[in-house]
Amino acid sequence: PGLETTAPRLTPMMAQYFEIKAANPDCLLFYRMGDFYELFFDDAEVASRALGIVLTKRGKHDGEDIRMCGVPIERADDYLNRLIALGHRVAVCEQLEDPAESKKRGAKSVVKRDVVRLVTPGTITEDRLLEPGRARLLVAVQRVRGPDGRSGFGLAALDLSTGAFALSETDESGLAAEIARLEPSEIVAAQAVCDEPHFARLVAELRVPTTPLAREAGDAAAATLRVCEFYGVETLDGFGAFSRAEVAAAALALAYVKRTQLEARPALSPPTRRARGASLEIDPATRANLELTRTLGGAREGSLLATIDLTVTPAGARALAERLASPLTDPAAIAGRLDALGFLVLDAATRDALRGDLKGAPDFLRALARLSLDRAGPRDLAAVRDGLAAAAALARILASAGPLPSELRRAQGALRADCGALHGALAATLADDLPLVKRDGGFVRAGSLPALDEARALRDESRRVIAEMQGAYADQTGVRALKIKHNNVLGFYIETPQAQGEALLKAPLNATFIHRQTMAGALRFTTNALVALEAKIASAADRALALELDAFERLRLACLAESDVLRAFGTAIAEVDVAAALAELAVRRDWTRPVVDASLAFTIRGGRHPVVEAALKGAGEPFVANDCDLSGDAAEGGRIAVVTGPNMAGKSTYLRQNALIALIAQMGSYVPAAQAHVGVVDRLFSRVGAADDLARGRSTFMVEMVETAAILNQATRRSLVILDEIGRGTATFDGLSIAYACVEHLNAVNRSRTLFATHFHELTRLAEILPRIVNLTMRVSEFKGSLIFLHEVARGAADRSYGIQVAKLAGLPGSVVRRARKVLADLEASRPSGTLDSLPLFSFEPHEPPAPAPAPRDDALRAAVAALDPDSLSPREAHAALYQLKRLV
Ligand code: ADP
Repeated sequence: PGLETTAPRLTPMMAQYFEIKAANPDCLLFYRMGDFYELFFDDAEVASRALGIVLTKRGKHDGEDIRMCGVPIERADDYLNRLIALGHRVAVCEQLEDPAESKKRGAKSVVKRDVVRLVTPGTITEDRLLEPGRARLLVAVQRVRGPDGRSGFGLAALDLSTGAFALSETDESGLAAEIARLEPSEIVAAQAVCDEPHFARLVAELRVPTTPLAREAGDAAAATLRVCEFYGVETLDGFGAFSRAEVAAAALALAYVKRTQLEARPALSPPTRRARGASLEIDPATRANLELTRTLGGAREGSLLATIDLTVTPAGARALAERLASPLTDPAAIAGRLDALGFLVLDAATRDALRGDLKGAPDFLRALARLSLDRAGPRDLAAVRDGLAAAAALARILASAGPLPSELRRAQGALRADCGALHGALAATLADDLPLVKRDGGFVRAGSLPALDEARALRDESRRVIAEMQGAYADQTGVRALKIKHNNVLGFYIETPQAQGEALLKAPLNATFIHRQTMAGALRFTTNALVALEAKIASAADRALALELDAFERLRLACLAESDVLRAFGTAIAEVDVAAALAELAVRRDWTRPVVDASLAFTIRGGRHPVVEAALKGAGEPFVANDCDLSGDAAEGGRIAVVTGPNMAGKSTYLRQNALIALIAQMGSYVPAAQAHVGVVDRLFSRVGAADDLARGRSTFMVEMVETAAILNQATRRSLVILDEIGRGTATFDGLSIAYACVEHLNAVNRSRTLFATHFHELTRLAEILPRIVNLTMRVSEFKGSLIFLHEVARGAADRSYGIQVAKLAGLPGSVVRRARKVLADLEASRPSGTLDSLPLFSFEPHEPPAPAPAPRDDALRAAVAALDPDSLSPREAHAALYQLKRLV
């Protein structure tokens, strides 16, 4: 009894709330009550603060006020959007029955409710919550241990909003680049993986919300089973060959989909696989530094992607972003894309026709995804209808365009599939003006469904139908004063004045008219026809709605039945859009087709920086095009250019533009240059800019050194490296020494094609000693004591750094500039050749090559291990084999 008095007395509703909340502790609970989602207790506090809505109180729990706030269902999307953007997860709890049902069970009974879906940053499908041109990826990361004990990672990238599903695998050193390439909106991984410092740091740096999953997703066999089960197949062989890590990641992603979508099952494409090395690897820092999809300030505007995006459909914009994020490394595949572009560059009429038609194409892949999750509205059906029309039109344009290059021929092939029947059904059934939600009906075209027309006629024209019936009965009885009336007790009834009504009580009229009531001066009747009509009218509205929802469901299933074809259309449309957009870009901006091959060439003539050029053009200024040659061969590796010149002369622009040209070429696009020959780059490295990363508690110098270390440790002969002002963040001699040693290492060990900008003029002397090093300088001229930047790259070294002139340009007070000149003159007088003599540059010793890797020992052991086929061994044989191996050690 003591317990009973202290335990809170719960209303049945609160008991239900607590139960549901306890099952979803990491989510804000949107608890449906009528036309609102209500939030209670701490959830209410969090949401009211985040959304700026009023926090109120409602009753008491445990002696305390129950804090609550509510959002109206019709605005729930907006609120969800804001909460998700702030990193919250939301559990949407719906009423699962009509409140009238629960009343039947008794006065105390509550409406059945349960969570129908978790809304998380990576699983959003609502159009209003999605950015049209951006993918919304959920990435599942699964770790597997290789036989050598090293960690491998499988990654599954799933876009629930389009059904795209791609798998890849990497190791610890490539994980950051792979995650940065995917740019996920949410990561899920096993708790153990999330807890690892390396992983935790990585996702924190990339600022991706991460959801730990309590349990690892079983073993390899269980993972395969789960993926097979999802797709309803016996084996995954039909989809391709996947590694253990990839399948494990896929299973983890699907488990999370199930957890967030509950009963709803999305229509996902079969998984595709991106082999490691198939795309140009770009680490997160380099992606950020090159401002590929966002500027360093975080804006999309001003990024490379924003500058080159001329696509006209959202799916095209997403495909372009993906191409930019994952440039290719296979020259043949790159050439295939370039061929498609080349065709459309030349054939302006086809290009214009395609782009004109694409403009009307809706985002029907996202519509299809919502249809599969049963979360779609009438406009999603319309999107499929219009998408089918657009596909047919594109196919016609391509068919009349003459012999097509293979990429476009493939797209044309996909677009030729016949979906006439589905299109016909959608076009015939959907009304011209469509409501946003299906809930209230009103989206089926009048005349398309006879039963619906009748129901609607009854609903809308009941008055006219009643009036017609009244006229007919007046004629039949000859009682002109006969009226059909309605009240809540009798429903519809026929009323006549008493005297004239007497005739209706007798044969033959009493066969039709059934007496109901006698009033003072009036008689009331009904007829079978009126009863029937009444029943029809009463249910007409319900029936109209039910028929519409039924039509919706039939169309929805018809669309899903064609989902493979529709997805192929979607992919083809996006590809055509990208090709036409990049061709248009090439024409508008005068870009040229690069030669991309397996050599180690890097020869650019007249290269430009696409973003800086566009910005200058806006200001009416010309961009000065520059050449670059870092070509080398397999034996020697690439060349290193040491770039000097005063600040503001254009060094960083030059470095970045060459990196971007390589990247743009490998995405299969024309490039901003007069001529370009690029031997495929495997990894792109940069160390540019200097942004303090105080959030991570690292100084600029520390960041610089960490990034430089990564480059020196990983860059290969196939890599392209750009380094800007290494050693700037520390004392001069320290910095110079570090920069010097870095160039030396790059020259002796990495041998990558390298651009190295520096303000240490001493480094230019290296070119005299090391044959692979060339000096470049940004030309400037002086006119009447002020500096003019020519932005022109020339061979040779800058004669001096012009620091004081630049400072003067920047507006340093005249007195300070004069004083600085004086100090400099004194310094130069006291040490004529600057710091050079004090450094061991002339006692240069060739860099010691790293010791060769120790020759593999134990060849017998290796041979024995290699000979083993684990799959064919029985447990007993495996045991025996272990003993045999042990004897060899
Ligand atoms: P640095 O790295 O040498 O300090 P930047 O590359 O930052 O110089 O260039 C400074 C500015 O000069 C840029 O913002 C741009 O406006 C202009 N600039 C750079 N390169 C060119 C060029 N090739 N043609 C025209 N203007 C340029």
